[in-house]
Amino acid sequence: MSDRQKKFILPEDEIPHYWYNIQADMVNKPLPLLHPATKQPLKAEDLYPIFAEELCKQELNTTDAWIEIPEEVRELYKNYRSTPLVRAYGLEKALGTPAHIYFKNESVSPVGSHKLNSALAQAYYCKKQGVTNITTETGAGQWGAALSYAAKAFGLELAVYMVKISYEQKPYRRSIMQTFGAQVTASPSMSTRAGKDILTQFPNHPGSLGTAISEAIELATTTPNCKYVLGSVLNQVSLHQTIIGLEAEKQMEMAGEYPDMVIACFGGGSNFGGITFPFMRHNILEGKKTRFIAAEPASCPKLTRGKFQYDFGDEAGYTPLLPMFTLGHDFTPANIHAGGLRYHGAGTIVSQLIKDGLMEAVDLQQLDTFKAGCLFAQAEGIIPAPESCHAIAATINEANKCKETGEAKVILFNLSGHGLIDMASYDKYLQGDLINYSLSDEEIAENLEKIGSLA
Ligand SMILES: *Cc1c(COP(=O)(O)O)cnc(C)c1O
Repeated sequence: MSDRQKKFILPEDEIPHYWYNIQADMVNKPLPLLHPATKQPLKAEDLYPIFAEELCKQELNTTDAWIEIPEEVRELYKNYRSTPLVRAYGLEKALGTPAHIYFKNESVSPVGSHKLNSALAQAYYCKKQGVTNITTETGAGQWGAALSYAAKAFGLELAVYMVKISYEQKPYRRSIMQTFGAQVTASPSMSTRAGKDILTQFPNHPGSLGTAISEAIELATTTPNCKYVLGSVLNQVSLHQTIIGLEAEKQMEMAGEYPDMVIACFGGGSNFGGITFPFMRHNILEGKKTRFIAAEPASCPKLTRGKFQYDFGDEAGYTPLLPMFTLGHDFTPANIHAGGLRYHGAGTIVSQLIKDGLMEAVDLQQLDTFKAGCLFAQAEGIIPAPESCHAIAATINEANKCKETGEAKVILFNLSGHGLIDMASYDKYLQGDLINYSLSDEEIAENLEKIGSLA
């Protein structure tokens, strides 16, 4: 017992030098993004007005499996990477499961989540192109916090639209962004046309990621030398996040095991893609049989109950049309505390992978996720982000199945962030003030019918 190893860490020179682009290995590539007016497939140039050019190329790159991490980005990764791969002995014991449970601890990043992995990359490419200002949206504030630091690191000015409900629920995330020097506005706001339109119709709108994205894109396209950056959903974001899975692959090797299951929570899919794609490549190329499980909230179930169709990435319809599993771009999810999971659609890569049966999804109720988070906190000493609690709840369900069958399966999950700035949410849970939300099939169908066929 005494020589059993708890955590696995890579030396700095073993931090990966390349990100992994799963698009190159996918047999069925994601369907093309379409121009909303012409319905023609988009080329990288069509995206240049919104995003930095290098990022547009990454978005549509279906040929290069490996993309070099710029030296400047890798240097900043060293501030917190590699992140530990940890064997959850405490959780295994608490559950009495024969399963071997590992988690990749992305909560050790300076801003407390995996989001910094892509924020640094995107800020770098904007700076390299001579951009001076960037805009973005943020839900729970994790992405905004990460980008605020990344923008400062590369000398960019940042304006953040923060979903109003989170702005009120998570005031300290706003303070973090302001500490790093970003300008933060609650969305919907009166500062953009998209925001004004929504507020005129719904004065008490709690905000959603879709709405905040519309505002940020509008600001980017009306401000000189300004680009928009996005913290999830896009292919480029999952690409940058593969640093998680690539490290985990080496670390699992140090542990002498290979995962039977890889589990992550699912908002737009970036931490899920980040930890799963490097392992999924072995399923695609070598016929390995690892299961990949996305854990989404029952109140925003686009993977388990949404529809695959072309839809917009934002509320106002400013983005290209994306082939995605969606609940409809004007779907406003219930005010669950896992703000980072309140997004109506899934990225185009994951949408294709789920269609092709390369991964699966489960949906979880809010109360079950907080219960799982508290158990994990007590067993491992880390308070997880409400989003990450979904991955933990799904992991516990699988570990309990192992208990029934007696199988010692190897489960790896991504701890996407810590919850130390989400204690108001834990307070509500502990006081019994949180509830579950369920959506009827009719509500989902109605919402999809409303948007109709867009392509
Ligand atoms: C943003 C966020 C998520 C959800 O976003 P994905 O792109 O799906 O990863 C999950 N966990 C944490 C901690 C987050 O900050």
